[in-house]
Amino acid sequence: MRVANLDGRLALITGDGAAVDVAAASDGRFGPDPMSAFADWEAFVAWAETLGQDDAAAGDDAAAPVDPARLGPPVPRPAQIFAIGVNYREHADEAGYPPDSMPVTFTKFASSLTGPDATVDLPEGHVDWEVELVVVIGLGGHAIDRDEAWDHVAGLMVGQDLSERVAQLEGSKPQFSLAKSHPGFSPTGPWIVTLDEVPDPTDLAISCAIDGETMQDSRTARMIYDIPELMARLSAVVTLMPGDLIFSGTPAGIGNRRTPPRFLRPGETLTSAIESVGTITTRFR
Ligand code: ZN
Repeated sequence: MRVANLDGRLALITGDGAAVDVAAASDGRFGPDPMSAFADWEAFVAWAETLGQDDAAAGDDAAAPVDPARLGPPVPRPAQIFAIGVNYREHADEAGYPPDSMPVTFTKFASSLTGPDATVDLPEGHVDWEVELVVVIGLGGHAIDRDEAWDHVAGLMVGQDLSERVAQLEGSKPQFSLAKSHPGFSPTGPWIVTLDEVPDPTDLAISCAIDGETMQDSRTARMIYDIPELMARLSAVVTLMPGDLIFSGTPAGIGNRRTPPRFLRPGETLTSAIESVGTITTRFR
């Protein structure tokens, strides 16, 4: 199942790429707010599974694939956004960080969220790319067992943890959260893909490219703390809530660690892809 934000309304994307408006198809039981799916995620999934192809064919433009420009962030107002630093082995090596006993955790403020087909204004400084697998929580909890962690996941998205490196690194301590939260600095999408559509969520190809030139190319199996371990360690401290997002860290190949360093420029297009999840496009000006 693929759950999208289409023109600000909760939608399901069918196998041929068309959209079903959830509020209309459920007679108002769910939707139209994309966040309404998380009021009772299990009930929403149970309802969505009863939808047949007949329902998918209903509606004016049901047969046409969705125009990506109409897609917003699938989870537009999460209660919490967690982001993990230095969570891929090769990226830890390029950044020169030794392993820590806890994953480095910061937030990307929710106002930085944008959709899978967005144009982002570059602020002053050096803006860098970080393609990341984003986990969407469906069932919250505190002290979630590693063995039960996947049962708490609504689905997966592609994300970018855009980062302004000057502000992030110029002080005596890293300024992760602010430097990664300019408007549009958290593109996500193209939709939430539920785990039944992801054959092996522990080992997915993950990559990004600028104007077609590959910058990052790895696999999520290279994470230091895998998704269940991140959820266990985060929820040992914090209560996870339905709709929360976890940006799970980026592989090697960021611009700041290149020789010479390379940052995003106006007019460039960043394409970010994760196997079985999808592709998002971010343009810069
Ligand atoms: Zn990151």
